[in-house]
This record gives sequence, structure tokens and C-alpha cells, in this order.
Amino acid sequence: MKITEHIKQAKGKTLFSFEILPPVKGESIDSIFAAIDPLMEFKPPFIDVTYHREEYMYKKRENGLLEKVTTRKRPGTVGICAAIMNKYHIDAVPHIICGGFNKEETENALIDLDFLGVDNILVLRGDAIKSEGRFIPDEGGHAYANELLGQVMELNQGKYIHEEVTRNPTSFCVGVAGYPEKHFEAPSLKSDLKYLKMKVDQGAEYVVTQMFFDNQKYFQFVDKCREEGIHVPIIPGLKPITTLNHMNILPSIFHVDLPDDLVEALEGCKNNEDVREVGIEWAIQQSKELMEKGAPVLHYYTMSKSKVITRIAEALF
Ligand code: FAD
Repeated sequence: MKITEHIKQAKGKTLFSFEILPPVKGESIDSIFAAIDPLMEFKPPFIDVTYHREEYMYKKRENGLLEKVTTRKRPGTVGICAAIMNKYHIDAVPHIICGGFNKEETENALIDLDFLGVDNILVLRGDAIKSEGRFIPDEGGHAYANELLGQVMELNQGKYIHEEVTRNPTSFCVGVAGYPEKHFEAPSLKSDLKYLKMKVDQGAEYVVTQMFFDNQKYFQFVDKCREEGIHVPIIPGLKPITTLNHMNILPSIFHVDLPDDLVEALEGCKNNEDVREVGIEWAIQQSKELMEKGAPVLHYYTMSKSKVITRIAEALF
């Protein structure tokens, strides 16, 4: 079922959902099931599965020279979605990115997803390969999420690449990313919202936000979106802090701020157990307020570790 239909059927009740990462190459899918199993009692109508593009690594050849090879550390997004749908009978939402794909490969991936009965996809640009510094599209690929979204919308009208007549139309419900604290490359929030609106005008039916730790940023973002004419559901993304490292890593990777109160509470912790408790309590308070103010879904970034999310969900759902 479409995410928008799940939201409609909930009639104002906040839903619970979460995002998982495919396991590292060579690990069993059982690690994914072990992460999902304890969360099923909170009745998530859908689970997102992230997509991870290739990375460069250097392998030493016999002659001692280094060879640059590409590898994907977390393959399996499509297979995991199929396995989730088969085992739990709920919707799985694969993330589809521009990076690493040309348009033909994207079309083939979308055809696979359509045949598997996947109804929803989250369309993203993807980040730059670590060693490249800025995002470079593949030859014949898309440079921005809105271009990839355009291809999905064409397919939803039965327009396949190189085909002169329209064929079986897909009917993907597409979500896109939004950034309450602005995407780090955007010169201003207004400019970022202009492109978000472009994606919604093209047919995106819902937005999932980057994590944030200050609810005011989400509420202001929603207000600004509405002012700009973006009227689709805006699903808040939440990440509980679980280690002291997060204090530095999250701002540098995800370009988000931590409120002073949270930083002070974390600085007062004696060990990682204390940090986890602070993180869980913060996420519960954030979630409660978001529910009170009518957030359609609370979407948790689990990093495939469910214990912490279980604690939070127990307090809320
Ligand atoms: P875009 O919408 O393309 O925007 C990128 C930047 O370009 C922004 O600054 C925007 O303002 C600007 N822009 C947009 N369109 C145009 C245009 N037409 N012309 C000029 N400028 C433009 N990454 C992964 O690799 N895998 C994942 O599974 C994944 N999941 C994510 C889930 C969520 C909920 C979020 C919030 C992010 C996720 N990401 C993932 C990270 C995401 O790929 C990065 O944040 C990426 O840098 C931007 O993606 P986007 O889809 O927002 O890009």
C-alpha cells in the first residue's frame, strides 16, 4: 500500500516506522531479521532500506603496486525489501539513488521493484564518493534527485527508455528527502526549499526529513514548506544518540546542530550507558511533542540496532 494511504487510514494517529541498513557484505540476512523482530510489536506499516553506492579501495598487487578497485560494502537493498515483504507482510521502501547508476540501470532496477510488488520508493541523489569530495553523476546518469524522480514519473506513465509506445505503467508512490537545517550544499534554506518544491510539483507524495534534535527546527521547516506551497506529509526523521562520539560525528556527517541542553547533558555523562540513557530520554521527549503536534509518522534511523528504538517505542506506541 502507498505510504500516503497508510497515513490517510491512520486518521490523524501518528504511525511508527524505521530505517535499516543492509548488512555488511558477507553477513547473513538474519542480522536484519534480528533487528526487525523486536520492533514488529509496534506495528510499523513500512520499513525503509537504505542504498549504499560503491566505494573505492586500494588492493596491493603481487608486484607491490596498488590497484584501485570499486566495491560495495552494503549490497542487497532490493533483496532485503523482498525478504521483509515476504516475511512480515508489510511494505518495504527501498532507497533509490542517482549515484552509481545510468538511466538504463535505473530503469532496470525500477522494473525489478515493480515486479516484486514494491509500492513506495524514496528517491535521493546520494552523497559523493568519499574520495571525490563532490557528487559526480555517472555518465548517462542523473545529477539531482529531481531528475531521477522525473524518470520514475515517466515510468508511472508507461514511458520506458527507447520505447516509442507506452507500455505497462508503474505506480510508485515516491518520497523525497527534506532538510530542516538546510542541505549542506544549498546556499540558503530558501534555495533548498525551491528544489524541494520542484520535487513535489513533479509528483513526490511525501517528504522524510534529515534527523534533527531540536523540534523547533522541524516545526519551522514545516511552516516554511507550507508557505512555499509544499502540502504533502512531512515525516520527521529521528536518531537517538547512543555514544559520546555522536556529539561530533553527527554534526560533521549530517550537518545538524545539537541544542545546548542536550550537549550539556551528554557532557555530564560518566560512560556510554549514561549517554544512551540521555539519548533515549531526549528522543522520547522529542517524539512525544511531535506526536502531540500531529506528526503523521515518526521515522527512526535505527542503524539496524533495535534495542534503543524498542525502548523509545515502548514509551510511546
Ligand atoms: P537533491 O534533492 O538532488 O539536492 C542536493 C542539493 O542540490 C541540495 O543542496 C539542493 O538544494 C540542490 N538541488 C536540488 N535539485 C537541484 C537542481 N535541479 N539544480 C540545482 N541544485 C539542485 N544517501 C544514500 O546514499 N543512500 C540512502 O539510502 C540515503 N537515504 C537518505 C534518507 C533520508 C531521509 C535523507 C534525508 C537522506 C538520505 N541520504 C541517503 C543522503 C542523501 O543522499 C544526501 O543528503 C544527498 O547529499 C542529497 O540527496 P537529495 O536527494 O536531498 O538531493
